[in-house]
Amino acid sequence: EWWTRKVTPGTVAAKYELEKVLGKGASSTVREGTNKKTGEKVALKIITIVGRGEKERTKFRDDTLRECEIWGSVHHPGIVNLMEFFIEPLQVVIVMELCKGGNLLDAVLDRGGYSADEASFVFRQLLEGLRYLHAQGVVHRDIKLENLLLRSRGDLSSVKLADMGFAVRTDKHGKFRSMAGTPAYLAPEMVSVIEGWPSAIRSFSSATDMWSAGICLYILLGGYPPFDGDTTKDVFRRVLHEEVDFQGRVWTGLDKSSKVLITKLLTRNASQRLTAAQALREEIVTNAGEFEMRKK
Ligand code: ADP
Ligand code: MG
Repeated sequence: EWWTRKVTPGTVAAKYELEKVLGKGASSTVREGTNKKTGEKVALKIITIVGRGEKERTKFRDDTLRECEIWGSVHHPGIVNLMEFFIEPLQVVIVMELCKGGNLLDAVLDRGGYSADEASFVFRQLLEGLRYLHAQGVVHRDIKLENLLLRSRGDLSSVKLADMGFAVRTDKHGKFRSMAGTPAYLAPEMVSVIEGWPSAIRSFSSATDMWSAGICLYILLGGYPPFDGDTTKDVFRRVLHEEVDFQGRVWTGLDKSSKVLITKLLTRNASQRLTAAQALREEIVTNAGEFEMRKK
């Protein structure tokens, strides 16, 4: 069985020293940890098993193990590596590579947007991770800057896709039916189902990740999201009805090729949207060079 390969018997506390909290999600806490024997530094995602009865808790544990199963089966430099995990009565703990550089949303907000060179360099790494995932028949479903981590601070060459909590496997036609994600990054084909459009079809593909990737690129360059609003309803209305605009001051100085790529990703018709493999052939991405980031 898949899960016996990476599951380690015993408790996490027997093998790792649990250290400072790195971040918190809805049902998990991520902490730094040190392997007591080897001294290796890792990140530990501690997922507390919740549920009122034994039945609910079993379901919760099974859902969590599905995240581990998909995550544990993918191996790519652009995806945070899952090393092993522990199944304990009250928690599941995922041991993964430590990314000390924080997430890209904080990095962008710090600087008010990246230069076109920096953004395309970062974005190419996301595209490579996505091309790999999609070729494996996996859709991440929560592509956003908070889930893109840097292995070390300021090192733009070390982008890692994290948080496989919403990942799904597609069927043999490349489709899946269940919805998940974050409103500001949600693809219009999902939004139209949520909004109850009669024409909406409840069948999605890896193209949903590519829409979210387009949102990421827009924020990387612009420093703000393309479809914003005070309420989720507002955001959804804009996603469904408004064209992405490049009116802000940051956009005027930018080369056309970055706006072209954003437009091709933020295409409402999912079947016409660029795939990761296609986006990797776009001019702005192929021209993205290697470079050292300026020290702040
Ligand atoms: P959730 O599924 O609850 O959203 P995430 O996997 O996104 O949990 O992790 C929550 C936060 O913990 C992240 O936003 C990030 O700040 C931090 N984090 C997650 N994984 C790592 C890691 N491998 N290295 C360093 N920090 C991490
Ligand atoms: Mg997350």
